[in-house]
This record gives sequence, structure tokens and C-alpha cells, in this order.
Amino acid sequence: MLNRVVIVGGGIAGSALSIALARRHIPVTLIERESRWAPASSGIFIYCNGLLALDQLGVLDDICASGWVSPDGGNLYLSEDGSTITHTVYPRGNAHVPAIVGMRRVELHRVLAGAVEQLGVDVRLGVTITAIDDTDPRRPVILTLSDGTTLTADVLIGADGIRSSIRTHLFGTIEPVYTGFGVWRSTHAKPASIDTKIMMMGTGTRLGIMPTSRDELYMFGTTREPGKPFYPRETWAAEMRRKFAAFAGPAAALLAEIDDTKNVFYTSVEEVHLPLPWNRGRLLLIGDAAHSSSPFMGQGGAMALEDGVILADMLDGATDFPAVLEQFSARRFERCKFVQDASRRVGEAGAAEDGASRDSRHARMRETAQHDVDRFYQRIAEPA
Ligand SMILES: Cc1cc2nc3c(=O)[nH]c(=O)nc-3n(C[C@H](O)[C@H](O)[C@H](O)COP(=O)(O)OP(=O)(O)OC[C@H]3O[C@@H](n4cnc5c(N)ncnc54)[C@H](O)[C@@H]3O)c2cc1C
Repeated sequence: MLNRVVIVGGGIAGSALSIALARRHIPVTLIERESRWAPASSGIFIYCNGLLALDQLGVLDDICASGWVSPDGGNLYLSEDGSTITHTVYPRGNAHVPAIVGMRRVELHRVLAGAVEQLGVDVRLGVTITAIDDTDPRRPVILTLSDGTTLTADVLIGADGIRSSIRTHLFGTIEPVYTGFGVWRSTHAKPASIDTKIMMMGTGTRLGIMPTSRDELYMFGTTREPGKPFYPRETWAAEMRRKFAAFAGPAAALLAEIDDTKNVFYTSVEEVHLPLPWNRGRLLLIGDAAHSSSPFMGQGGAMALEDGVILADMLDGATDFPAVLEQFSARRFERCKFVQDASRRVGEAGAAEDGASRDSRHARMRETAQHDVDRFYQRIAEPA
């Protein structure tokens, strides 16, 4: 019987797990190092499997009300000149669960944090863990926090993101692997004419447009960035305009709007390749800490949500905690690797760098894009 689960990291994975455990009346403490607990970033889209997990967490209606629900799961592919390449449709979760929701990250977080609070989870903001005594897996873990307090945990979950300090505690330094790509994002007022997800395929670049509410959208563009260059924050707006200057169609007006005061974000894309097991004794990694993926499939958040729902289910009623944590990582490994590999392939295909390979990619997309979506989501529809 679980007396207390301690979760380090109140992002998507940590919040989802907190909610799922609290709904099962399992005591949880959530430790988040930020005292202002709200991610400063642009948008996120969540596909059917992530939405099914949000439904199981009991927050789907709030999520749909706080974001933009794709009316038909459609994704319009355009070339950089604005001409149509093809159109695909993503599957719904079920009659009640839509195919895609786009939303501002801050809204996703507001909904998850609201549920965490409503369920009475013990949340400690602005603190982190300074010492972990997990020498004897037969006994609870003893934690010291940065505010000097101590906690006892039957299970300690590292949901502390791509640069996880719990991962370092468990396995030493495992650096995220740089993929060679960068992602540029900006937020905009949504023109009434845009009411679908759009992907524009360029030469060496691609640019997505995704509504996040009735009145807002965000753009996200991918570039190859060999050598992991550093771009000072004050250059992001000008760099984003410059790197995607060739894009016409619906992107042109949005790119022209980007000025130095807009919300523009640049991220070097990295992955975490952690071999099994993801646990040692009573400590386990979930979310990006265990399996951070490139964002080209828009699945990292969904994997983090699934982790939370499934782990809570497996922990409910468990007595041999180290065995359950090991079973969890074995159960999740192949699925998360499948997403990582598929996402990397999509990133590479999106970065065809000369006119001839770009044109043959577009011809191939007309033939296979829907089939590729269907095949991916058939696999994702299998039990997680
Ligand atoms: C450019 C980009 C675009 C993306 N787009 C999408 C998308 O459209 N759809 C999608 O599903 N996924 C997307 N993802 C992936 C998604 O953002 C991540 O997979 C997801 O945020 C992982 O959640 P997490 O909770 O594991 O980690 P995080 O969201 O990183 O949360 C970790 C939390 O832990 C806290 N923390 C860290 N260290 C400590 C510590 N020592 N002590 C206490 N707290 C700590 C942090 O403050 C943070 O709150 C994208 C990723 C990128 C980079």
C-alpha cells in the first residue's frame, strides 16, 4: 500500500501523474522548482492519444474549452509558394474525443494545475531536492528539500524534464542528443480565414500554422542548424523572419507581423535516449526525463500524459514498488522509441534541401501522406 508518492517536476508528466494518483486517493507531493509556475512559451497541439489521456484525467472538457478543437482533424499541406500539396485527416480518439486540439501552453498548464490544486495535491513551489537517500530499496526514500524540510516517499518520480537532475542522480550524466534541428515559434492573432492545421513544406525548412483558440494561433518553423549555433534572444525575431522569408501563402502576412516585441522562441531540438530500465529501486523517470523526442510528430506531451495515466494505474494497489516501476519502463519503452524514431524521420524528410528532392518529396506525399498518418495512428491506437 502506497503511503506517499513524491514527484519532482510539475510539467505535463508530473501534473498528469499527480492528478491520476490523487483521483485514486493516493497521497502525492509535487515539487516544482519554479515559484511562478507557468511555462513561458507559445503553443502546443495534442493528438487523439494525448486527448484520450486528458479525458481519463477528467479534464478534457476544460482543455477543449480553453483551446482550439480541430473541426475535422484535417491537416493541409502547402508548398512554400502557398500551392496545395495534399490534405490529410487525423483520427479522432472516439465519438467524444477529437482528433487534434491546439492551445497555448500556458492554458494547458492552467487546466492541469487547476486540477492538481482542486484535488488537494501537496504542491511545493520554488523548491527542489538537494539530497536523496535511496540506499535500501526495501525502505522508503528519504528526501531533503532546498527549503531544509525532509520528506519520505514510497516512490520518487523524476518528471523533471530533458535536463533531469533525478536522471543524473540515478545514472550519472546522460546528455541529451542534439538532432541538428532548430525550431522557431511565434504567436499571432488568428485571421478568420485560418481554421485548420497547416503545414508548409519549404526547401530545407518547413513551417506550421496552428490555431490555439478562436482568436489566436502560433507558427512553428524548423531549420537545419548544424553545430548547434547560439542565437541571442534579441535576434530571434529577425532570424525567424529571415529564415522563412521564402514562404508565401498564409505564412507571408504572419511573418511580416513578427517584430521584436512579438513572442518569438527559438529551441535547439534534442532527444533523450535512455536505455532500460528507467528506474532504480523506488526511483523512476517519466516524460522528457526518460524519453524526450523531437517535436516533429507533436507527440512528446502526449507521451508524458500517457505516462502519468498508466503509471498511476500500475501503482494503484501495488506492493512491490521497484518491480512495478521496472514493469512500467519495459511497457513504455518500445512505444516511446517508436515515436522518437518516427519523429526523427519526419524531421529529416521535412528538411529536403534542394529543389529536386523537395519536388520528389511532394510527389511522394501526394501518394502516401494519408497512409503514413493512418499507419502511425494504428500503432498508437494499440494499448499504450
Ligand atoms: C519546440 C517544441 C515543440 C513541441 N511541441 C509539442 C506539441 O505540439 N505537442 C506535444 O505533445 N509535444 C510537444 N513538444 C514536447 C513537449 O513539450 C514535451 O514532451 C513535454 O513538455 C514533456 O513534459 P515533461 O513534464 O516531461 O517535461 P517539462 O514540460 O520540461 O516539465 C519539467 C518540469 O520540471 C521542473 N523541474 C526541472 N528540474 C527540476 C528540479 N530539479 N526540481 C523541481 N522541478 C524541476 C521544470 O520547471 C518543469 O516544470 C514540443 C517540444 C519542443 C521542444
